[in-house]
Amino acid sequence: MDGANGERRTRPAGRAIVTGGAGFLGSHLCRRLVADGCSVVAIDDLSTGDPRNLASLMTHERFDFIEHDITQPLHIRADAIFNLACCASPIHYQADPLKTLRTCVDGAANVLRLARECGARVLQASTSEVYGEPEVHPQSESYRGAVSATGPRACYDEGKRCAETLFFDCHRLYGTEIKVARIFNTYGPQMRADDGRVVSTLIVQALAGEPMTVNGDGIQTRSFCYVDDLVEGLVRLMRTPPEVTGPVNLGNPGEVTMLELAERIRELTGARGGIVHRPMPEDDPTRRCPDITLAKRLLAWSPQVPLDEGLARTVDWFRRLHAGRAARRTGTTWREARHVA
Ligand code: NAD
Repeated sequence: MDGANGERRTRPAGRAIVTGGAGFLGSHLCRRLVADGCSVVAIDDLSTGDPRNLASLMTHERFDFIEHDITQPLHIRADAIFNLACCASPIHYQADPLKTLRTCVDGAANVLRLARECGARVLQASTSEVYGEPEVHPQSESYRGAVSATGPRACYDEGKRCAETLFFDCHRLYGTEIKVARIFNTYGPQMRADDGRVVSTLIVQALAGEPMTVNGDGIQTRSFCYVDDLVEGLVRLMRTPPEVTGPVNLGNPGEVTMLELAERIRELTGARGGIVHRPMPEDDPTRRCPDITLAKRLLAWSPQVPLDEGLARTVDWFRRLHAGRAARRTGTTWREARHVA
């Protein structure tokens, strides 16, 4: 992959590894990197990833897939490593919390070791969850967070915090070129329908004509970033000069309450089902909003896709998925196309 300012930008595109490449964000990133001229190796243990997300790349000459669990060492040469492997939805990361922790911590240690071995830049997909239940709004990178070390979300939140620590320690000890992105809620086509994330859940319920479920009174807010914007931010961060390490917030600062979100989705889908409220999950933050001043300054980046447009694209994708057309369009099945390490 081409690199930061100056000399590196002029180098021909190199080889990038994307861990978690069969997941929601990872698969979008793989397509973007291949389109940019990179050779891409996606690594995934398929715990929540779906090989159909990568179907359009499986026969591409500059794309390869390796089924591998990043808690085990990796030995592949690369110029850049994007570490996205980790189940991101609470129902999945809480299903096996010890595996989640190991993926965050052992996985980060393994990609850092690999980066050191091959002199690669390495980007960590961290998360707004490192801020926990924030006491300041919006959250800037200097805010240290209010995270429960013992709650049901801690396997993810504390795992991601520890991964950041590992990244910065390797940077200080070995000069590893690191980039840490703190990703806020991101949505778009290829989200899993069954992972309990609010956008996909509401869209699937609306399209099925079921009542839309909203946690608590629904006045808690989130900010949603469309996936293309997020991928653009990751690519720009990876291209920054070596002295730029982050952490850098990537997300859309536009806040919306869960009730407003449900209403917008109801309008887009023409759904007739009502809204039902259910109890707030433990440790669910009441407000989340990124301060993206740093990303604007360092990356000249800000989200471009308005919420209504991104939701419309996402609804359209779920509609086609429901109609079964997505499966016919991708053609190749995973079992036919995969490479197994
Ligand atoms: P996802 O669950 O769709 O993708 C994660 C991928 O990692 C899956 O394909 C899964 O199979 C794979 N994986 C999990 N454990 C693994 C392991 N041990 N070895 C190899 N592969 C493994 O989630 P996503 O939304 O695409 O998130 C990608 C990354 O971005 C995650 O690290 C997540 O923490 C981070 N992130 C995402 C969001 C968001 O809103 N989507 C927000 C903050 C942070």
